[in-house]
Amino acid sequence: MTSGPIVRFAPSPTGRIHIGNARTALLNWLYVRRRGGRFILRFDDTDLERSKAEYAEAIEKDLAWLGVAPDLVRRQSERMAAYDAAAETLKAQGRLYPAYETAEELDRRRKRQQALGRPPVYDRAALRLSDAERAALEASGRKPHWRFRLEPTTVRWDDMVRGESHVDSASLSDPVLRREDGSYLYTLPSVVDDIEFGVTHVIRGEDHVTNTGVQIQMFEALAGAAPRFGHHNLLTDAGGEGLSKRTGALSVAALRENGVEPLAVAALAVLVGSAEAVRPVASLDELAAIVDLSHLSHGAARFDEAELDALSARTLHHMPYEAVAGRLEALGIAGSGAEAFWLAVRGNLARLDDASIWRQVIGGEIAPIVEDREFLELAASRLPQGAWDQSTWAAWTKELKALTGRKGRELFHPLRLALTGREAGPELAGLLPLIGRAKALARLSAPSA
Ligand code: GLU
Repeated sequence: MTSGPIVRFAPSPTGRIHIGNARTALLNWLYVRRRGGRFILRFDDTDLERSKAEYAEAIEKDLAWLGVAPDLVRRQSERMAAYDAAAETLKAQGRLYPAYETAEELDRRRKRQQALGRPPVYDRAALRLSDAERAALEASGRKPHWRFRLEPTTVRWDDMVRGESHVDSASLSDPVLRREDGSYLYTLPSVVDDIEFGVTHVIRGEDHVTNTGVQIQMFEALAGAAPRFGHHNLLTDAGGEGLSKRTGALSVAALRENGVEPLAVAALAVLVGSAEAVRPVASLDELAAIVDLSHLSHGAARFDEAELDALSARTLHHMPYEAVAGRLEALGIAGSGAEAFWLAVRGNLARLDDASIWRQVIGGEIAPIVEDREFLELAASRLPQGAWDQSTWAAWTKELKALTGRKGRELFHPLRLALTGREAGPELAGLLPLIGRAKALARLSAPSA
């Protein structure tokens, strides 16, 4: 057993995860990564109709792409017996009670309360039923749903993000934990699992603050104590709209398909809306050392895809060869020259896949652009002999400068156009030795198009 913190990420597998879910997953993951704890992936799949195995599978894949590797994966649908046992415990304590109102009755009552200017809190009529009244309702075919009896206290906790926090339980309705059909809502299973798996820190979105007030009471009823809680601010899209699993907007899968770097997604997902500057990182460990829950801001934060594109490019520009070797190999770029190739082109990439373009420019056939035949002929005749390295370009162009008086763009641009067939690209000092003398000569001597 490790003694570090135990956290969990608990998505319901009812769709693909989006960048806001990734923020929650990563804040948990980075928290334990820095402290040597454990990360549990828990699928909240008690809603059997909407939960799908293929979504669960896809979520694991999305997390793996981000670099999140759970120590344990659990599904709530396999743990019904534990929830039943907890429900019995709460019943025995008088904290879980049957209620028979239909949805329409509750709705009517709420409207009446609102008309009288009262808060629409459940009036606990079910608690005042006599045994005979309850029996009569059951005999008439009514099935109860089950509510948790809240203590009318102010629940307080020291939030890892928000500091001293509280929820006034007296202003809440006793939450329904179990529906008429016996199925559980999210609230109880989550607490039962957090207890069973020894979760020490619950890090989740601030849309769960009210739940925390309720769940702390449930932890106390079932285990005597609650874990620590941290509620992070939520992400919106660039237009300020909330994110939803249902629409698929800003899904991790879509970002991956767009070719952005997973480290850039991870960095932006946790650094945006915090006191830390958004910046490229070389690893999740580096990100773990930067991220601090107490540095998160309190308002919603906007996730901007344009910002992500820029960060993704900057992430590539500094990436060491070892970090991309496998992915380059998948593009067919491997072997002895692969590292030199990578170092020559990475500073110019917007997407990793663009490396293929430069591989073609270096090793394949291109159409040289001939702008100044005479100058190119001179340049070809002065191509250095011997072994070529990073300094070859400087030596060659220095000589051409001395011979022609050209400088700056006038000197360099015709060479770039002929050697690469492109207006822009990586530093020629790095490209030239990779292109090699034979190809360079042929390109400089190419006939005008
Ligand atoms: N399934 C819940 C959700 O996705 C989990 C909340 C929690 O972390 O407790 O919102």
